[in-house]
Amino acid sequence: MKTAWRFNAALLVSVTTLLGGSGARADGTNPYHLEANVVSPFDYTGVVTSPAPYHHVVFGGDTSFDVAIQGMSTGGQKVWFDVRPISPATDIRGVILSGGANARVPACANGNPASGGYVVQVEVQAYHLGTWTPIGWVKYAHVDNINVNNGAVIPKAFSFATASWNYDGSCSTAPHVHMEPYNYRHYACYTNRSPFAYYDTLARVGGGRLGLQQCP
Ligand SMILES: [Zn+2]
Repeated sequence: MKTAWRFNAALLVSVTTLLGGSGARADGTNPYHLEANVVSPFDYTGVVTSPAPYHHVVFGGDTSFDVAIQGMSTGGQKVWFDVRPISPATDIRGVILSGGANARVPACANGNPASGGYVVQVEVQAYHLGTWTPIGWVKYAHVDNINVNNGAVIPKAFSFATASWNYDGSCSTAPHVHMEPYNYRHYACYTNRSPFAYYDTLARVGGGRLGLQQCP
């Protein structure tokens, strides 16, 4: 089950704020190779149902994989943006780039949400020496009940949606969450750890990897 710190982190931003017009958005630079752990989106033990790197990339990620809750269908439960800083980064925040509640993006090519819900793209920004640096993004597909709009800034642990119950077989045959991490510069890595706990890392974004690989 979720930990207190997850609850507290979500409560810190009960009302999301809109990103200002500063020029600090993604320009692909990450001079300190700031890096972050992309943690399980679930509150329960999960399993990798289709591993990286061979699972299909459909939203432009460096790689992709499918995850589901172990021993139960993945439908209706909270889906978390849970990304944690790796030193020297000291904090992480997310920015909803697309798929927010004010502009939903269907997860399936046929455009029908009943075929697998929606997809949300969350930019990962790392904090270091007074500056937020965009280091990459994570896409989460097959979600519903999205509670943030495009442009919203969310803390490093925030439940932004629920897992979709909607699967008619058109593009998905069983409940799961499809995840795609991407680095703006260099490459993401993946773990394929399975089963995994709610606090386990599934991938990393940022850093200076010269190719797609398993995380160290
Ligand atoms: Zn998938």
